[in-house]
Amino acid sequence: MIDENHTALGFPPFTDEKPSWEPGEGRLPEIHLYFGSRCNRECDFCVVFGSPRGWLAEVDEELLEALLGLLHPQAQLKIYGGEPTLLSANLRWVFAELRRRGFAGRFTLFSNGIQSARLLELLEADDRTCCVLNYSILTGTQAERIPPTALRQLTEYARRHPGRLFAGHADLVEVGRAQQ
Ligand code: SF4
Repeated sequence: MIDENHTALGFPPFTDEKPSWEPGEGRLPEIHLYFGSRCNRECDFCVVFGSPRGWLAEVDEELLEALLGLLHPQAQLKIYGGEPTLLSANLRWVFAELRRRGFAGRFTLFSNGIQSARLLELLEADDRTCCVLNYSILTGTQAERIPPTALRQLTEYARRHPGRLFAGHADLVEVGRAQQ
């Protein structure tokens, strides 16, 4: 079901695609990659305590090899953070290398969308990549809203490229600094 808020935003809600294949032994249908807590926001509800002072570890050759060994070739690699646009050069390398080595699955970024130009560069770098935007920041719900220029740019891209930009879920989970 598509709720009214998502429709009004211009970004459909994200739903996982059901795999049409059987994962082989030792190959996973999905991996969630958290590369650190560095972020350009500092939300109270953040599960990784994201912050501009947070840590960040780039994906290197060793991790890339591990991902290739674990992921089914049609799997989904979900990339969280901190904020993935702060690692955009490294992620473009990850996309290119995994494709070159036979990975044909989907990359799904989870981003606040504030660095919209960098985010669109990542989407343009790989046509099996999509992004789920943080609902709270998109709507200004218990968080400072995404700047209007970034929102305009993302909305226009979503209009022209269906299936590439989504909004996350509206439920706020009681986690993060707010619980300390
Ligand atoms: S934008 Fe996302 S990663 Fe950054 S602090 Fe907020 S919830 Fe955490």
